[in-house]
Amino acid sequence: MADRYLSFTGTAPGRFLTRRLGLPQPAPLRRDALDGGLLHLTAGKSDLGLAPVLARTGLAADENGRPAAVVLDATCVRDVDALAEVHAALHPVVRSVTTGGRVVVLGTPPEAADHHQAAAQQALEGFTRSLGKEIGRGRTVNLVRVTGADAVAAESTLRFLLSPASAFVSGQVIEVGTAAGEATDAAADGGITAPDDWELPLAGRTALVTGAARGIGAAVAETLAGQGAQVVVLDVPQAEDEARRAAERLGGTALALDITAADAGERIAAAVPGGLDVLVHNAGITRDRRLVNMDADRWSSVLDVNLAGVLRTTDALLAAGAVNRGGRIVATASIAGLAGNAGQTNYGASKAGVVGLVRSLAPRALAGHGVTVNAVAPGFIETRMTAAVPLLIREAGRRMSSLAQGGLPVDVARTIAWLAHPASGAVNGQVVRVCGQSLLGA
Ligand code: NAD
Repeated sequence: MADRYLSFTGTAPGRFLTRRLGLPQPAPLRRDALDGGLLHLTAGKSDLGLAPVLARTGLAADENGRPAAVVLDATCVRDVDALAEVHAALHPVVRSVTTGGRVVVLGTPPEAADHHQAAAQQALEGFTRSLGKEIGRGRTVNLVRVTGADAVAAESTLRFLLSPASAFVSGQVIEVGTAAGEATDAAADGGITAPDDWELPLAGRTALVTGAARGIGAAVAETLAGQGAQVVVLDVPQAEDEARRAAERLGGTALALDITAADAGERIAAAVPGGLDVLVHNAGITRDRRLVNMDADRWSSVLDVNLAGVLRTTDALLAAGAVNRGGRIVATASIAGLAGNAGQTNYGASKAGVVGLVRSLAPRALAGHGVTVNAVAPGFIETRMTAAVPLLIREAGRRMSSLAQGGLPVDVARTIAWLAHPASGAVNGQVVRVCGQSLLGA
């Protein structure tokens, strides 16, 4: 579904009119390449060892004063006075960040035993989210919390956030190397593996995506295949032809299966004799009604596909040992599960349940096995699902975010690919919104 408002605001009269009327001014997102170099700043003296990691991102050091990416290392900020250095570092450069550029702030987890450190580090969250809301021009701002002095554990995350792949991810706080303890433990468990080729990180790995015949799932399968994975395209028997065509295009295989089937996990395990390296729970449905009008069928069908099916198949696959060492499980939540949405008590419950599953399973799945469990929470994504939403609600969904537009399936797919990356072993138990910093539940 074309976003006509976005096209209109890209014209000279459109820009003039929307500025005069104070209307949202979305900038087309940069999904191909960033337009400029990298500026590395620090607030205070840091011993994070970030420079070699940033050098490997391929972004050249900014030389003309118009950076496309700014990284502020604020890991040494331990009290409120030190926050002045955050202001001093970013105040002079924010204006010069190019259209569609990136700002990444690095911090550390707030410490329960030090309320001054906790206050200062928590302040970075409010700072990052506020800057994301005001920076405009398709630019994004995110906070990465690292544990210890280990920038290598954050390499895949930095590469993602400093690339076009994260175009629709803004205002997020991502913890690296905390959910499973020290990042070095994760590495010892086989959780972090730098790929031989960063362009094909999933080469030799098998990935299964549920609900992959169309929409977001199809984009996920395509993105993972593009990064070298052997993909299994799973969808309901009614969508078998579509799934088969998608699988053929990607050099993968199709699996016609309803994930609510009692034996779904066992049938998946049988279809992947070498086990799974990446499992993406994407299949999902909506059956909207306000609770007063919602019959038991609408309730249970959504809970069954979106949550019970995910729990059952995950349990069966883990029990069968079908998730390989260093495996990656990514589930699809929704901002409706974080913020709630009128008419979606069933859907909101199911997607919040996914978040609960991820947070509980993540520390246990990793232990000794290097498996990570994370979730993405998409906001308004341009798919058949959102094309069916009534016009006014659809327009509100698109504009009520910092980026003032809907995302594309590929934005979710690329975020999942980062979480599925062999080098993302220290990213565990995270729920990352792919929503352009939507105002819903922000
Ligand atoms: P979609 O309806 O276009 O595609 C969903 C796919 O899942 C379909 O191919 C469908 O056949 C399949 N599916 C449904 N039930 C299944 C079952 N029981 N077993 C196997 N496959 C099944 O939806 P989409 O917009 O691509 O959404 C994908 C996921 O993202 C869903 O989990 C959805 O809740 C979530 N999400 C989407 C948006 C959005 O804006 N589109 C926002 C937030 C979250």
